[in-house]
Amino acid sequence: MSKSEDCLFCKIIDGRIPSEKVYEDDTTYAFKDINPKAKVHVLIVPKDHYANVAELAAADPAELAHIVGLAQGIADKEFSGAYRLVFNTGLDAGQTVFHVHAHVLTGEKLDE
Ligand code: 5GP
Ligand code: ZN
Repeated sequence: MSKSEDCLFCKIIDGRIPSEKVYEDDTTYAFKDINPKAKVHVLIVPKDHYANVAELAAADPAELAHIVGLAQGIADKEFSGAYRLVFNTGLDAGQTVFHVHAHVLTGEKLDE
């Protein structure tokens, strides 16, 4: 499994840094964002290290589809099935952690 030594989210996946786990399977880990921007704000990450969503889509499109399905499942459980799915991609778009992560924002009606 591909890992990056200095990556915050690789450390969270490995349990070297604690997190509030929401879901885990062989390929994927989901945990609560430390600074939530909605009533429910979950980050979903592939266990393999890819810098951004474009790299993930090119290398493992099935994993990207899996992440979308998990986001839907969280929104079905926590809310009406509605959610916002955000992949900040690149520094100038606000990406601060360069291990691809889906922000799932749900649990309440979101601002437009
Ligand atoms: P980005 O800005 O890269 O799209 O999103 C990174 C997200 O990771 C931010 O929403 C930030 O709050 C979250 N985050 C940063 N450090 C930690 C941490 O140590 N634990 C958790 N659970 N979330 C973190
Ligand atoms: Zn990583």
